[in-house]
Amino acid sequence: MHANTDPNGNIHLFFGIWIAFFLGNLAFNAIASPGLKRQARPYLYVLGSVVFLAGAFFLGLGLNPIMIVAVIAILAINVHSTRVCPDCGKTNYSGNLISAPQFCVRCGASLDGDPRNTDGKPDRPDLRRR
Ligand SMILES: [Zn+2]
Repeated sequence: MHANTDPNGNIHLFFGIWIAFFLGNLAFNAIASPGLKRQARPYLYVLGSVVFLAGAFFLGLGLNPIMIVAVIAILAINVHSTRVCPDCGKTNYSGNLISAPQFCVRCGASLDGDPRNTDGKPDRPDLRRR
C-alpha cells in the first residue's frame, strides 16, 4: 500500500507535461535550422519557466515570490550565457554563467549576440574547418 499524497493525480500531469516539453525540445533541436533555433531559444526558455511555475502551482506549492525571483534569475542567466551557433546550430553554454560564449565549441564560428547574424564564418583559426 502506498500513501495517497496526491489524490488528484497532479504529479502525473506535471511530469507528463515536463516529459512532453522535454521531448518537444529534443525534436525541435533535431529539425530546426540554426537561425530558427537562435530566434526561438529565448521563447523556449520563457515557456520552460512558465511550465515550471505552473507545475509548482498545480502541485499545491503555491507561487512563492522567492521561487518566482529564482526562476526569473535562472531564466536570465540561461538566456544570457547560452548561444546557438549560426553555422552548425550547436547550443553553446558559457563555463562561468557571467560571460557569454564567444565561439562555437564544435565548429569555431563566432557567436555574435545578434540573432540576425547568420554569416557564421569561422573566426577562430584553431577551430577552422579544413
Ligand atoms: Zn558551430
